Amino acid sequence: MNIKIPDHVRGLMDRIEAAGHEAFAVGGSLRDALLGIPPHDWDVTTSALPETVASLFPDKHVIPTGLQHGTVTVVADGDPVEITTYRVDGEYTDSRRPDEVRFTTSIEDDLSRRDFTVNAMAYSDKRGLVDLFGGRDDLEKKIIRAVGDPEKRFTEDALRIMRAFRFSAQLDFEIENNTLAAAIKLGGRLKNIARERIGSEFMRLLSSVAAGRALTTMGGVLGEIIPWEIPAERLTLVDKLPRDSEARLALLLHGAPREAILDTAHALRLSNEQKKRLAAMSQSSPVREITPPACRRFLRTLGEDAPSAARILALLGLGERELEDALIEESAKSPCLSVGALAINGTDLITEGIASGRAVGELLSSLLDSVIDAPSINERDTLLELARDLASH
Ligand code: ATP
Ligand code: MG
Repeated sequence: MNIKIPDHVRGLMDRIEAAGHEAFAVGGSLRDALLGIPPHDWDVTTSALPETVASLFPDKHVIPTGLQHGTVTVVADGDPVEITTYRVDGEYTDSRRPDEVRFTTSIEDDLSRRDFTVNAMAYSDKRGLVDLFGGRDDLEKKIIRAVGDPEKRFTEDALRIMRAFRFSAQLDFEIENNTLAAAIKLGGRLKNIARERIGSEFMRLLSSVAAGRALTTMGGVLGEIIPWEIPAERLTLVDKLPRDSEARLALLLHGAPREAILDTAHALRLSNEQKKRLAAMSQSSPVREITPPACRRFLRTLGEDAPSAARILALLGLGERELEDALIEESAKSPCLSVGALAINGTDLITEGIASGRAVGELLSSLLDSVIDAPSINERDTLLELARDLASH
């Protein structure tokens, strides 16, 4: 087998081994490397204690990332590499976090605490692949399978339920039957997990290549995450949108009561920016007739998300496919879509004695409506004249 560990990571492992300890590449980075996907970051696991690891790299930038969990980050060639001491997790209460972490000197123990077989392999040039649970086989068969008894593992840490679905979406893998049954059975335990962690896993799932597949296997677990009954036929439609989690969520929630959309945004701990995009895309109204002014109005409300919003409407049978192309075409003409892009501004209205106070903003907004209907009038004199006219009525 040929696993190419980058030189800077190998350099760190060599130094740990030279000091008489073991070191392996492990976890998601090894999984990805075996799949031929270039890993974004490398994780190393070692028999050396964290203080020892830190002391081995006086010439490097060492960050005590999570000393109590045994992790130090060593920056090699500008790249942060997480080096974690072999550990076994202590008792779990409440499906949350282990109450304590115990270090161990056995790679086998460390691999046993990991979540899924494909994530529970280790590799070093010296020892080759350590694969106690058939991870290699599952990678080939494209299967997500819990290490050990799935019910026990999901009870220990319910976040693993979300991770199972997220990996299934990300890798386009099937979840093994017993693992899936346990995940669905124990979905209610997600109540014990911090909402932002659930939200982050779910948004990653949504932006993944096989999101539809994961969503359709989630069953009742979906109801633990989204406080609204999603029509089942929408679940596979998400794959027909770009890999944008907000747009895909908007498709799932389109037409839901405003309250449900806000509750979902809150449950997933979305940022204000994400909330805004979700609200706009999930509440967009169909465009009756595809004309340039209608396209501009749509662009004004949806901004850069207009094409996705159009695709959502089309997928739900609420609009024509042509809208998306028409929007792209209209947007390429860089039309005036905001008050800021008008040929006059508030100061002009004031100095010309046309308006003052609150009326300024209202007038600008009316001018924008007119310009959206007829872009050619976005010109100083014409707008001033129109403003006088509007103000006098
Ligand atoms: P990605 O980085 O794409 O999310 P990953 O597999 O690297 O995937 P990490 O969260 O970075 O996931 O964790 C690294 C490794 O730590 C995993 O591969 C797994 O072996 C182990 N791990 C992470 N979270 C858990 C967990 N909740 N329970 C058990 N093992 C875990
Ligand atoms: Mg990782």
